[in-house]
Amino acid sequence: VSRPSPLEIIPLGGLGEFGMNLMVYRSGDDCLVVDAGVSFPHVEHLGVDLIRPDLSFLDSCGRLHGIVLTHGHEDHIGAVPFVLERHAVPVWAGPYTGGLVRRRLVESHPALSPRFVPLPRGEERVSIGPFAIEAVPVRHSIPEACMVVLRTPGGIALHTADFKLGAPGEHDPALLDRLARLGAEGVLVLLSDSTNADRPGSTPGEHVVADGLESVIEGAPGRVLVATFSSHLERMERLARIAERHGRKLALAGASILSHVENGERMGLVRWPAGVRVSVEQAMELPRSRVVIVTGGSQGEPASSLMRVALGRHHVIDLEPDDVVVHSARTISGNERRIARMLNCLVRAGARVVTPAEAPVHVSGHGASDELRLLIRTVRPRSFVPIHGEYRQLAAHAALATDCGVEPSRVVVAESGDRIEVREDAIEIVDRIPLLPVLLDTARRDVDRDVLRERRRLAGAGVLVPVVVVDRARRTARLRGELDARGWGWGEEGNSGPSQAGAEAAVRDWLAEATGDERGDPDRVRSGVETALRRYLRQHGHARPLIVPVVVEL
Ligand SMILES: [Zn+2]
Ligand SMILES: [Zn+2]
Repeated sequence: VSRPSPLEIIPLGGLGEFGMNLMVYRSGDDCLVVDAGVSFPHVEHLGVDLIRPDLSFLDSCGRLHGIVLTHGHEDHIGAVPFVLERHAVPVWAGPYTGGLVRRRLVESHPALSPRFVPLPRGEERVSIGPFAIEAVPVRHSIPEACMVVLRTPGGIALHTADFKLGAPGEHDPALLDRLARLGAEGVLVLLSDSTNADRPGSTPGEHVVADGLESVIEGAPGRVLVATFSSHLERMERLARIAERHGRKLALAGASILSHVENGERMGLVRWPAGVRVSVEQAMELPRSRVVIVTGGSQGEPASSLMRVALGRHHVIDLEPDDVVVHSARTISGNERRIARMLNCLVRAGARVVTPAEAPVHVSGHGASDELRLLIRTVRPRSFVPIHGEYRQLAAHAALATDCGVEPSRVVVAESGDRIEVREDAIEIVDRIPLLPVLLDTARRDVDRDVLRERRRLAGAGVLVPVVVVDRARRTARLRGELDARGWGWGEEGNSGPSQAGAEAAVRDWLAEATGDERGDPDRVRSGVETALRRYLRQHGHARPLIVPVVVEL
């Protein structure tokens, strides 16, 4: 009897980093991708709009059968078009998630028209190659989020993606029952969301936020603006009901929010109380105490509606001293400063700002440690791999798993690129695939890493442009005019740093000492001048501007 191939799990993103979740499951030569997301640039990624995973592994991994999507957040679906560009495979997704992907394709990849297949409902299974999948609906912060049960020749993998179970007393008994039955059947490996693994306790349910928002709105004399994530349709629906109870109308502002809401309305996932919705323009005509506005821009995005309101530049919405702005969102790591700047502008404009620090106006969409424990204890997997998190969260989650009785040798903290092999009796990282995530600008062109390095140098120290006139025939070369400097300051006369005169002298000295052969050769002049300037600057400080010698031939 031949033993079945071991199950291989290869994360191409999302382990040891925030966002860009993409998991490859492989059995022998057959592969399936679960989620394909992007992440967003950090401050050092100048001019970068988006980061997508390195997908080259998919070209040689064997037969790719398709992509299964757990929910419609960017860190789970943003890279789908890039996978489809290379591999024309079907996409298994719920209607809302599929709708978001379709919208994305129309905008950025109109030539692609993949086959969308609905995820199985209830406890139905659908076969994909040698795999069979089931979708288990879970709570998160977007409609249709689900866990994926993946039946493979090597055993069952349970891929939770993002989820929360709620505080004790709020749990969904049907869900826990289904997970327990799966556990009884035998789960080979559990891959679970680590986002909040380092937070104690549980994440309260959305009703807590509704109460928090209601008490803010109840006591507000003027307009109430609520900034939240564009995909959080449940929160918007609850806000509509609160608005109705307090005699207010609800307006939605921002392209991203409207896009999500339209998509949700088409799927019948959002139901507004009759007569509550108005346009932003209509809302501006109403008395201020009769209005609630939901806006995007909770992360302080410079072009967002809320940022424009904060700066007094929104074409319709303005602020007055009685108005309240609620930050009903989490601060995503890396966005702290621009959110703080936006909140400062809002307060300066006279608004009262309420954040989750002052009132319960936001709860996470991810389960905290008690919920993660409950899941592990319910499923009782043979092996455990923490996913979705920076290294710190993965490690914290691994500790929870051993604490809940998973054999320590069967808990693997892996990072993106690690190839994990899971067998009935063991799990191990067998090797690592080198990954180079792709940086994309707003036109979706790749940003080369050398280009990025130049940009950093330009941003940090500017550029020096020595123009040298070369006469090949006479084998002479001279510096023309002044040394041109952009984004670079020479500083005060007589300071200890580099001076313009000194830098020009360094160039002239090199040209004077160069041989006739060197002076007659534009390439050698270029590199000689650059080296001479760089050496001079190094001797007079450590600033490293970009140096772009220009050679003009006579
Ligand atoms: Zn999510
Ligand atoms: Zn996520």
